[in-house]
Amino acid sequence: MEKPAVCGGKPVRETKIFYGHQYIDEADIEAVVRVMRSDYLTCGPQIAQLEEKLCQITGAQYAVVCSNGTAALHIACLAAGVGEGDEVITSPLTFAASANCALYCGAKPVFADVNGETYNIDPTAVAAGITSYTKAVVAVDFGGQSVELDELRSICRERGLVLIEDGAHVIGTRYKGKPNGSIADMTTFSFHPVKTVTSGEGGAVLTNSKEYYQKLKLFREHGITREAGLMQYPSHGNWYYEQILLGMNYRMTDIQAALLNSQLDKLPLFSEQRKAIAARYDQAFTGLKGIRLQKENPDSDTTRHLYMIRVLEEELTIGRKEFFEALTAENICGNVHYIPVYFHPYYEQLGYRKGLCPIAEKIYEGIISIPLYYGMTDQDVDDVIRGVTKIAGYFER
Ligand SMILES: *Cc1c(COP(=O)(O)O)cnc(C)c1O
Repeated sequence: MEKPAVCGGKPVRETKIFYGHQYIDEADIEAVVRVMRSDYLTCGPQIAQLEEKLCQITGAQYAVVCSNGTAALHIACLAAGVGEGDEVITSPLTFAASANCALYCGAKPVFADVNGETYNIDPTAVAAGITSYTKAVVAVDFGGQSVELDELRSICRERGLVLIEDGAHVIGTRYKGKPNGSIADMTTFSFHPVKTVTSGEGGAVLTNSKEYYQKLKLFREHGITREAGLMQYPSHGNWYYEQILLGMNYRMTDIQAALLNSQLDKLPLFSEQRKAIAARYDQAFTGLKGIRLQKENPDSDTTRHLYMIRVLEEELTIGRKEFFEALTAENICGNVHYIPVYFHPYYEQLGYRKGLCPIAEKIYEGIISIPLYYGMTDQDVDDVIRGVTKIAGYFER
């Protein structure tokens, strides 16, 4: 049996590989440079083009791009009318921003447990968490796999809640044949460099509602409008505008938008390779002792953002922490998505306690995200498979 590097064996590769990485080509660089030489670094033509493109890709009627995925969640909550005293239900197994957006609005995040197999928020737990204060549900497509949109939509419709899909991982995925982004009341995207396509920093909200669209634009830009229909007083002249509510400056620059416009041309390519790598991992790891995989939701045609393996301590002589370190010694640098949000000291200080969502906590104990990104070579994928298989085999109980 091959010795893991952590026990003095030879690592499966000489150079480090990370769990995610952006892919930038010459077309991306040229697109950015073109904007740098143009008249508009911000508030220019790239923004409208990008919003149009996002609508084409997702089939949503409206898109509002903004400075990052967290800003997108914030303005989506504001557009949904989330405010002081309200409750917002979300998943504990997510990046903190999915819950922080409720706090920004003065509302209280309520954590509903996840499904133990798909790791996505469990619609039954969502229904059980609804109170007379609940205003919205922020559902996260964990790892890129779609949440149960039909179930969540019907719960939200019945109880008068707004369904916000935190689709930071989901661009390129389809749910029952329809692209995610066109289904929930609002869907947010993130374009951080570890996500499937990037603008450096960036985000967007997609919706089919004209009312939400108008509000999203206002909240993105100071609450200022130039639309006659929204103004209270007659125009003083061509320079005239009015601030009609308190918004932020969450604009994306044209430099970022140009990069994303160019990246989106490669989305089908990115999506295809991510799926192919995930399929190779699935094949290699299905049935491997000590490892469980995130179960696929047959309704989701998934562009994977993250590939998680779940280390089962009961089948191995080591736990997740040691497995993670053994992978690092092989030069395979994983990550863990995510520490349950309410484990963080800030949330603890707000009164949240461990034990709230036992399924999510159990999943957290075992998960490791292994490398998955466009541009990985077949050799890279082979190395990761060899590394994981070697460690699982060596430490089999
Ligand atoms: C990345 C991410 C965000 C935040 O996006 P930023 O663009 O980094 O602000 C929100 N939710 C989830 C699930 C994410 O992965």
